[in-house]
Amino acid sequence: MLDSDKYKKELNHFLGNAHNILLICHVNPDGDAIGSMIAFGDYLQRSGKKVNMISPNHLQEFIKWMDGVDDIMIYTKRRKHCDEIINSSDLIIMLDFNQSNRLGEAEKTVMKTNIPKIIIDHHLDSGSFHDLLISDPLKCSTSEIVYELVTSLNGGEYHTDRFAEAIYVGIITDTGNFEHGNFTGTTFRIMAELLDKGIDKEKIFNKVFNNFEESRLRLMGYALYEKMVILPECRASYIVLTKEELDRYGYSKGDTEGFVNMPLSLKDVDFSSIIIEKENYVKFSFRSKGEFPVNSFAQKYFGGGGHYNAAGGDYYDSLENAVKYFLESLKNFRVCEE
Ligand code: 5GP
Ligand code: MN
Repeated sequence: MLDSDKYKKELNHFLGNAHNILLICHVNPDGDAIGSMIAFGDYLQRSGKKVNMISPNHLQEFIKWMDGVDDIMIYTKRRKHCDEIINSSDLIIMLDFNQSNRLGEAEKTVMKTNIPKIIIDHHLDSGSFHDLLISDPLKCSTSEIVYELVTSLNGGEYHTDRFAEAIYVGIITDTGNFEHGNFTGTTFRIMAELLDKGIDKEKIFNKVFNNFEESRLRLMGYALYEKMVILPECRASYIVLTKEELDRYGYSKGDTEGFVNMPLSLKDVDFSSIIIEKENYVKFSFRSKGEFPVNSFAQKYFGGGGHYNAAGGDYYDSLENAVKYFLESLKNFRVCEE
């Protein structure tokens, strides 16, 4: 259990002095980033606060349907307006990240202010740009932490349909519908509460996981059949996708989500990476099962981070050089049999 009573006191101190609160999540927000932000925003608004929510960049299709997303401003679409909102807030709450570069293009404005900042997160190794850090890497999601904080602040269970849906989405997306991540008995007790309150689990599941275009499934087939490389000596797998290949399959944002997990279903593979060519850099996603700390790997070689078994990072060079560097890094980091 989170020590919510300890945090309650500290949070109340900040909340007591704040009326105009900004919530902001990480760039390329996932279900947990948006879920935790909408849930906490809903509670704060109903407790009489003025709440603004910003996402550093656009939202993907699988979360765009959620109740509350219309209240989220997209930084890259309305920079000037967002800058004004950031600068005029009297408390900034950052959700689901702990490195300032995860604020994307909003980083400069947020980091320039001396408005008090709170981080609520579940990643390891936090930076030091906060006034209050509420973090527990043993939690499956930031949404679970927000649920416990709100229960504590509210002096008992808090419920609105929006809050319940947002928490539910955050938990099922960060655990891959209970496939991975640090979910515990507490997670299921929260799920039980949400189900008892009548959450529409089937609707949510279908909106989140069964909502893709045909082109995405074709791209997945291509990636697995033509592009998956297995390195048996390293118990590793990687998939490289070029810009041209993505275009050929009518790629839209989020289409490659989940591909990186698939090679882990192989019995002799415990490390998997997907390497995607972007406009002026290369994006790496890493997954592992068992004892392979992909967050350390991402941090050491790719200026990134994440969780023990799920992390990511970037490399600023050509795709060819990035792949070469990746293979060298892997062989430096883990013992591969000759
Ligand atoms: P994904 O591979 O799904 O993009 O990300 C997996 C995990 O790694 C997420 O928890 C995400 O926050 C983290 N992550 C992905 N890319 C980066 C990155 O460039 N920097 C950091 N610090 N974390 C990342
Ligand atoms: Mn998360």
